[in-house]
Amino acid sequence: MPERTAMKTPLVEMDGDEMTRIIWGWVKEMLILPHVELKTEYYDLGLANRERTRDQVTVLAAEATLRHGVAVKCATVTPNAGRVEEYGLSTMWKSPNGTIRAMLDGTVFRAPILAKGLRPYIPTWTKPITIARHAYGDVYRNVELAAGAGSRAELVVTDSAGGETRETLCEFGSGGVAQAIHNTDESIASFARACFRYAADTGQDLWFAAKDTISKTYDHRFKDIFQAMYDGEYREAFEKAGISYAYTLIDDMVARAVRSEGGFVWACKNYDGDVMSDMVAAACGSLAMMTSVLVSPKGVFEYEAAHGTVQRHFYRHRAGERTSTNPIATIFAWSGALRKRGELDGLAGLAGFAGRLEEAALGAVGDGIMTGDLYGLSGIEGRRLTDTEGFLAEVARRL
Ligand code: NAP
Ligand code: MG
Repeated sequence: MPERTAMKTPLVEMDGDEMTRIIWGWVKEMLILPHVELKTEYYDLGLANRERTRDQVTVLAAEATLRHGVAVKCATVTPNAGRVEEYGLSTMWKSPNGTIRAMLDGTVFRAPILAKGLRPYIPTWTKPITIARHAYGDVYRNVELAAGAGSRAELVVTDSAGGETRETLCEFGSGGVAQAIHNTDESIASFARACFRYAADTGQDLWFAAKDTISKTYDHRFKDIFQAMYDGEYREAFEKAGISYAYTLIDDMVARAVRSEGGFVWACKNYDGDVMSDMVAAACGSLAMMTSVLVSPKGVFEYEAAHGTVQRHFYRHRAGERTSTNPIATIFAWSGALRKRGELDGLAGLAGFAGRLEEAALGAVGDGIMTGDLYGLSGIEGRRLTDTEGFLAEVARRL
């Protein structure tokens, strides 16, 4: 066996649930442990252990991430009523991703993984488009009310001295609805900072788009905060790296994106990011070909797959069937975390391994060996359908 790559600082490893938990074990055993002297601080975020620890394990894992700087997370079940019964839970534990995000206060970056022979539905998209979604406020923290005929809706802001500013939203002739939304300068600034850092880190242009022509106070605040931060802190570094930042209107951005070849970061307000990340994922074919990383303004990173625990495949696996579940997003969560760890610790060998791991996975797909979700998307003649373990064996062979 060739010498294994050494590590310095441990990764924070967050194990998870169902099919992705099975794949997690295989990826480590077949692809990572043979090549890396893996150091991790292990947290079992599987639902049984969240129940056992009253979800303290999730908090401990997030704290460890703040301490060590880089985490890799397996998909986890977010309980609903059905899961409470299925797993005999004492309560409906909150989404681990929500808990972790609240503690790390980050922005989620999602990008499709492109492979030879897989044709995006927009054929000019030869490079990935990364969607950066602001994860706070707007319509997700709205206040809304129904208004009867003859009522008046007002927006009132009371300042710290008790002074009121008010605006009438609508004098309702017939009935209707009213809604108020908010955001904070602090949250917008941390979103902007994460976007500038990510673009600089990955050497890509950054676009931010909103609707400031219509929303002259609200959206305009976002635009101003981005612009001031760019001019004050990032312009020089961007120009030196040959990348750019620009603001444009959201409708113009959609047209630009469709006509583009990809290869940029698109910063989106919360709702726009929700919609546009699904659009980019769908146009590129499969949720299992999407990377996801939470970048915290505290300077820490959490890598995961964009998809869930693939519950339906897990039930078939548990019944003894071999499933054709795509492990690529899980592999890329590991490679992303190992590369970042290598960069932070100055371990070129570790970062190099991450690159070879990704090449091996994409190489298998390019050679026409793929799981069921990709089989229909690929134009490669004579391509071969494999189950998950068969696919991982092909990746291991190429490594
Ligand atoms: P999902 O696990 O993403 O799976 C939805 C469907 O997408 C699957 O049934 C499968 O379609 C396809 N799919 C997803 N990943 C795939 C892969 N790697 N390979 C092949 N096909 C794949 O979403 P879900 O079934 O709605 O959610 C299951 C559980 O995951 C839920 O309990 C939810 O709470 C959790 N979840 C966790 C996270 C996270 O931790 N980040 C995110 C989302 C959801 P076919 O069945 O048609 O093959
Ligand atoms: Mg969505």
